[in-house]
Amino acid sequence: MQSFDIETLAVRSGYEQTHEQENSEAIFPTSSFRYQSAAQAAARFSGEEKGNVYSRFTNPTVRTFEKRLALMEGGEACVATASGMSAILSTFMALLEQGDHVVSSQSIFGTTKVLFNKYLAKFGIEVTFVSQTVLSEWEQAIRPNTKALFLETPSNPLTEIADLAEISALAKRCDSLLIVDNCFCTPILQRPLEQGADIVIHSATKFLDGQGRGIGGAVVGPELVVEEHVRAFMRTAGPSMSPFNAWIFLKGLETLSIRMKAHCQNALQLSTWLSGHSAIEQVFYPELKSHPQYELACKQQSAGGGLVSFRVKGGQAEAWSVIDQTQMLSITANLGDVKTSITHPATTTHCRVEPEERLKAGITDNLVRISVGLEFIGDIKADLARGLDRL
Ligand SMILES: *Cc1c(COP(=O)(O)O)cnc(C)c1O
Repeated sequence: MQSFDIETLAVRSGYEQTHEQENSEAIFPTSSFRYQSAAQAAARFSGEEKGNVYSRFTNPTVRTFEKRLALMEGGEACVATASGMSAILSTFMALLEQGDHVVSSQSIFGTTKVLFNKYLAKFGIEVTFVSQTVLSEWEQAIRPNTKALFLETPSNPLTEIADLAEISALAKRCDSLLIVDNCFCTPILQRPLEQGADIVIHSATKFLDGQGRGIGGAVVGPELVVEEHVRAFMRTAGPSMSPFNAWIFLKGLETLSIRMKAHCQNALQLSTWLSGHSAIEQVFYPELKSHPQYELACKQQSAGGGLVSFRVKGGQAEAWSVIDQTQMLSITANLGDVKTSITHPATTTHCRVEPEERLKAGITDNLVRISVGLEFIGDIKADLARGLDRL
């Protein structure tokens, strides 16, 4: 299977057909598994014999999703988790200990920041936040006890690009792991492991599902790290993915490639149109030539992705009025869905971030974020024009 192209892997890899000879992957909604004998039960429990024991540890449907995503990311192993947040939590709980230090981009998902500042801190793990795009800040933040570097690229909502080649080289120099949240690009647009990252994190809730149906996450990386450490934590602490959700995500992967291409096409058209609108101050999209890191984005990603942000002329009132005058778009903070969504980051996804920190990260009150879906682009533009044309 490894030699197949990613589009083939997405459709066919990771599954073993049962005796029923089904063509579509079966779901195994079972909490536990039976053994042929007491001796087999003992061998499974001791780990002497490989195989299923209990669905908190492994489940055939979840395994199919894990194998498929690992192959698509070019990683050795994958552990699926109950959510993107539990994928991040499991990785840090498994790999770090009291007294360790992490350097993280400041431009990460708001809840991840809360996880770092409120919960990892409680267990004596300190996180230093640096600019996503300034390598010298990363270098200066490194300490003898730095064990991991963490980032998402492009960032949410400003689509800043982190230089994976430079930051992974730094991670190697200081003997720490580079962990990349690849939620926005998915392996279709960017494979961080091929560009030097050690571990890839996913919120499967977003583009992997693609139709806003379930919550899930995953950790992809080397066999030793993922199976021995992250899975060991996951099976003990319990944030496992359900077989039903795994099946949804599995089906999501099958159409991921064509969906990502369509999301990118719509997003490029939308961002180009927004750039020319008189009510707009600035548009953020990696594939626009005006993007400060356009060249790096072209080198690292095969397309710009599905997220577009823009600053309207004015403040919160103007941003809210553009959002409130839409009739078709979904006003929701979820992203990566076939349905286009619109949100005001400062008062939703980033509302728990201290105002000062929020401004430092560029989340101003006039910023609006769109996760561009698969509706006809003319209808998406028309829905936004309703508010924009009145500003
Ligand atoms: C949504 C999101 C998460 C968290 O994922 P959940 O599945 O909601 O727990 C993590 N990182 C990024 C970049 C996200 O967008």
